[in-house]
Amino acid sequence: MNTMQSLTDRKKVVSKKEMTFMEKLYLPAIIGGMWITFKHLFRKNNTVKYPEQTREFAPVYRGQHVLKRDEEGRENCTACGLCAVACPAEAITMVAAERVKGEENLYREEKYAEKYEINMLRCIFCGLCEEACPKEAIFLTDRIVPSNFERDEFVYVKDRLVEQMDNRIDITKRQHTGKRSKI
Ligand code: SF4
Ligand code: SF4
Repeated sequence: MNTMQSLTDRKKVVSKKEMTFMEKLYLPAIIGGMWITFKHLFRKNNTVKYPEQTREFAPVYRGQHVLKRDEEGRENCTACGLCAVACPAEAITMVAAERVKGEENLYREEKYAEKYEINMLRCIFCGLCEEACPKEAIFLTDRIVPSNFERDEFVYVKDRLVEQMDNRIDITKRQHTGKRSKI
């Protein structure tokens, strides 16, 4: 038979030797395992009790998105769709609408996102939507997307994305270029 030659030299021939009397007792192996467990009781714990405790995040951590408002409280997003096009996971979708007279205090641009959705189950938090946005409207924050049992709950609509006027979200700490909005 023509056997293929291995490309690596990592193969190991396993011997099937008879177990000794002590090995057949299994006791030394059990005691050895328990000794390892016992030693770990006195070692420093590397885990934290999330969610009661959290670790400090890196300044560039990318978490839940926010749709920003400008200084006057108007939504920055103009529903151009560039974030959706840039998104490699196709997590973003939106419906654009024309701003009508009297809505100038709500939307900064003449066109705005009537609907805007991000599917957090699809999102890989790469930040490309933030990079693509010409209006400094979408940013990733240091907030964690909470877990849920229902898939629908992971589709975030404007209610959960647009920042509240009385709860502005500071994204300046994780912007290193200094060219972003100061709010
Ligand atoms: S962070 Fe990346 S994957 Fe998530 S919505 Fe933005 S572009 Fe898409
Ligand atoms: S968030 Fe930015 S890129 Fe996305 S639709 Fe709005 S303005 Fe365009």
